Amino acid sequence: MAKANDKEERTFEEGEIAAPVDDSPVFTCRMCGQCCHGQGGIVVSPKDLRRITRVLGIDAETFRREYGEERGGKLQIRTGDDGACIFFREGKGCTVHAGKPDVCRAWPFFRGNIVDPESLAMAKDFCPGIRRDCDHATFAREGKAYLKKHHLLASDGEHEGWAVILKDGD
Ligand code: SF4
Ligand code: SF4
Repeated sequence: MAKANDKEERTFEEGEIAAPVDDSPVFTCRMCGQCCHGQGGIVVSPKDLRRITRVLGIDAETFRREYGEERGGKLQIRTGDDGACIFFREGKGCTVHAGKPDVCRAWPFFRGNIVDPESLAMAKDFCPGIRRDCDHATFAREGKAYLKKHHLLASDGEHEGWAVILKDGD
């Protein structure tokens, strides 16, 4: 489904949820769906919007109307009545895997977890995919390398998720 100029992006298998890292010492997604639940946070940047509308075969206005909502001045994916992302299906996982936003591709390598050991400790309680025995320095190193390799680092705080914006020195 990915276009030629997206070839550097990780491709996701049907239903796959988060950022699997081959032979990672820090993370292996358990497909529990926990990270697809909760209100807000799934920011759809302009780049994400182009990709997800292409995958869904709809235009941007239709996406905004059917699946989106504005939160904190940014376009985000709406939460359904079950409290999960509108694209999440129990037992199936992510139903828009090829078009999922970069924040979904990046989890659990969010800035907070990369810069703050306490945030990582909380993330370990939330996400069973993060190895309990991985230390923060290793997680941060692997996370930064993953984000860089897959072109997931963002820079536009007005339209992109803060979770994928690293600052100088992070
Ligand atoms: S919470 Fe963690 S293990 Fe569960 S689906 Fe999300 S990334 Fe995978
Ligand atoms: S787009 Fe997919 S991976 Fe992202 S929150 Fe929704 S269901 Fe989960």
